[in-house]
Amino acid sequence: SCTVAIDRLLPVVNKLHNIFQRCGLADPIDLPQIVVVGSQSSGKSSVLESIVGFDFLPRGTGVVTRSPILIQLNKIRTVDDSQPAQRWVEFLHAPDKRFETEADIQAEIIRETERVAGKNKKLTPTAVIMKVFSTQVVDLTLIDLPGLTKVPVGDQPPDIEKLVRAMIYSYIEKPNTIILAVHPANTDIATSDALQMAGRVDPQGLRTLGVVTKLDLMDAGTNALDMLLGRIIPLRRGYVGVVNRSQADLDTKATVTQARVAEKAFFQSHPVYAPYAAKMGSQYLAELLSAMLMEHIRNVLPSIRTKITTQLSDVREQLASLGPEVCGADDSSGTLLHLLTNYASAFSDAIDGRPKAP
Ligand code: GDP
Ligand code: MG
Repeated sequence: SCTVAIDRLLPVVNKLHNIFQRCGLADPIDLPQIVVVGSQSSGKSSVLESIVGFDFLPRGTGVVTRSPILIQLNKIRTVDDSQPAQRWVEFLHAPDKRFETEADIQAEIIRETERVAGKNKKLTPTAVIMKVFSTQVVDLTLIDLPGLTKVPVGDQPPDIEKLVRAMIYSYIEKPNTIILAVHPANTDIATSDALQMAGRVDPQGLRTLGVVTKLDLMDAGTNALDMLLGRIIPLRRGYVGVVNRSQADLDTKATVTQARVAEKAFFQSHPVYAPYAAKMGSQYLAELLSAMLMEHIRNVLPSIRTKITTQLSDVREQLASLGPEVCGADDSSGTLLHLLTNYASAFSDAIDGRPKAP
């Protein structure tokens, strides 16, 4: 599947990133990231969470997400697959501590948000940065953002709308960002600020994916098929409909897995959505995202390959000019050459789709 392919490709990109860093060269790889945009309570945090597959983001009604939350997923590669699954989270602001339970992680996000933004609904552009280490994720960065809002509440300044927009633009304008424009099915999509903002930074719609949430909350007898099929606002990459957990589900602590099962049943048994069920839901959204990411990485690979090849021949020339006795020595330039040679070949393998050496 796509996920597996990414699994193989991203570590190589990550290693290249490390190598370039160690050699003191400019970072050639802007790691792709996924950002959610939408109005307050549209279901952004819920969508991200269902992609990640476990509960840790503060969610709920009202102003819940008050700072950008950068979630860096790091896959733990185990030699022995029979070992039990592992997972923990580290925060940039508390580097030496491991957080293991979902409740602890969520509490820490809330604590840090309150430290930076106070307790009364104020928003901050200062990101909470967390690293998730797990045997069950792919290497990816996801960014949860505060929702678009118009009317200031609590300690929010009068120009809150302008501030949030600026914060959102600062993330979505980056060309290597995939935008998930989240829209609840029970409101008019023609007025979607998220789609409008995405359209500004990505006019061709190459990196924008529409996500329609709350399909379960539509009035009886109505449906979002026109919205989902892009008949109201066309989107090049289309829309995926999802059903996240409701507030009642959150209160009764329904798990992500239970939610996925219920979501699948919802689409498969729905009189209008059933024929489209294979292309709906959180699982399909995750697969689509993997495919987009893969495409993105494939597009940047050739230019990185060129950079590496150039770098490699530069180093070879330098070494040659130093004379033969230096080349075999285990000094820093010898090591550099060795590293670059190694990774250049791992890199070619990744591009050409050859299996990784054991
Ligand atoms: P955010 O403010 O955009 O991050 O929205 P949240 O993810 O925090 O969700 C806001 C509220 O809407 C929470 O109470 C969620 O349980 C609820 N919610 C989100 N998506 C859905 C959905 O698809 N169906 C239902 N019934 N409730 C949802
Ligand atoms: Mg949120």
